Amino acid sequence: MQDFIQELHTILPEERIKIQAMMKEHTTFRVGGPADVLVSPQSVEELTRILSLAKENQIPYYVIGHGSNLLVGDGGIRGLVIEFGKEYAGITWDGNISLTVQAGCMMSTAANFAYKQGLTGMEFAAGIPGTLGGAIRMNAGAYGGEMKDIVKTVTVMLPDGDVKVMDRDEMHFAYRHSIADEQDLIILETELVLEHGDPEAIQARMQELGQARREKQPLEYPSAGSTFKRPEGYFAGKLIMEAGLAGYRVGDAQVSEKHCGFVINRGEATAKEIDTLMQDVIRKVQEKDGVTLEPEVRRVGEFV
Ligand SMILES: Cc1cc2nc3c(=O)[nH]c(=O)nc-3n(C[C@H](O)[C@H](O)[C@H](O)COP(=O)(O)OP(=O)(O)OC[C@H]3O[C@@H](n4cnc5c(N)ncnc54)[C@H](O)[C@@H]3O)c2cc1C
Repeated sequence: MQDFIQELHTILPEERIKIQAMMKEHTTFRVGGPADVLVSPQSVEELTRILSLAKENQIPYYVIGHGSNLLVGDGGIRGLVIEFGKEYAGITWDGNISLTVQAGCMMSTAANFAYKQGLTGMEFAAGIPGTLGGAIRMNAGAYGGEMKDIVKTVTVMLPDGDVKVMDRDEMHFAYRHSIADEQDLIILETELVLEHGDPEAIQARMQELGQARREKQPLEYPSAGSTFKRPEGYFAGKLIMEAGLAGYRVGDAQVSEKHCGFVINRGEATAKEIDTLMQDVIRKVQEKDGVTLEPEVRRVGEFV
C-alpha cells in the first residue's frame, strides 16, 4: 500500500490524495470509518493511470459520488476509494436541448443549469442530493421522473479500462438499477436530452418539489434518503409505520417519525447501529405483513 500511495503522487497533486479518509466526511449519513486512500480524479487520463496502478499493486477500488446512498461500515474501506466530485463536474450545452454532464456534477447543479437555459425535464432531479454518476448507476428518480427518461447516452469506462459510449437502451435501466451494477462500469459522463420549456414554469415546479421534500422528509438530519426500495404494490414507509416502528431507535440511529421510509442519524450513530436497526425493521415488517424489504442504501466496507 505504501508503494502504491507513493506512486499515486506521480499522478495526482497532494490535495487530491487523502490517506485514511474518514468516510463519515464523504457520506450524507455521516457515518463510516477510514478508507485507506481516497482520490478525486479530474480527467479520464488520470483515472486510467490510477486504475492501472491499482491493478498492478492489486489494490481493490470502490467508486463513489456524493455518498448520498451509502452506508459505510465503521471499519472503513480497505483499498482505494475513487470519488467523483467537483473536480470532474463540467456541463456542456449544445445550444439547443442537449446537455453533456460529467459524473461528479451534482444533480441540483445540472437541474439549475437546465432551468437557466429554459430546458424542461430535469425538475424531478433538482432535490436528489447526489451526483450524475451516482444517479445514472442507481437510475435515481422522484415525483414521476427517472434518469432513464432523460438520458440519451452514457460514456463509461469498462473494467478493462476501455471507454465506451452506450445508448439508453444498452443501459438496462430499471427501478434503481442499471447495467453499471451488472458489469461494474464507471460512469464518466452522460448526454441528457431535455425539451424547451417556460423558465417560470420550470422554476415553479422545482420550488414546488423542493417544498414537498422539506415538508415530508427529515432533511434536518443526516440520512441516505429512502432506506428501502419500494416493494411492488406497497410503500416501504407505510409498512414500517404500520409495524409500529415510527421513532424506533438503536442508539443514535432512528426510523424517522416524519417519514418512516427514512432512517436518520440523530447525531452520533454508528454504521453498526444503522445496520442493526435496518435488520430489525426488515424482520418486524416481514413478521407483520410477510413483505421482505430490500435496502436501497448500499452497504460498503467493513462492519465491525
Ligand atoms: C435526503 C435524501 C433524499 C434522497 N432522495 C432521493 C430521491 O428522491 N430519489 C432517488 O432515487 N434517490 C434519492 N436519494 C438517494 C441518493 O441521493 C441517490 O441514490 C443518488 O443518485 C446517489 O448519488 P451519489 O452521487 O450520492 O452516489 P453514491 O451514494 O456515492 O453511490 C451510489 C452508488 O453509485 C455508485 N457510483 C457513484 N458514482 C459512480 C460513478 N461515477 N460510476 C459508477 N458508479 C458510481 C456507487 O458505487 C454506489 O454503488 C436521496 C438521498 C438523500 C440523502
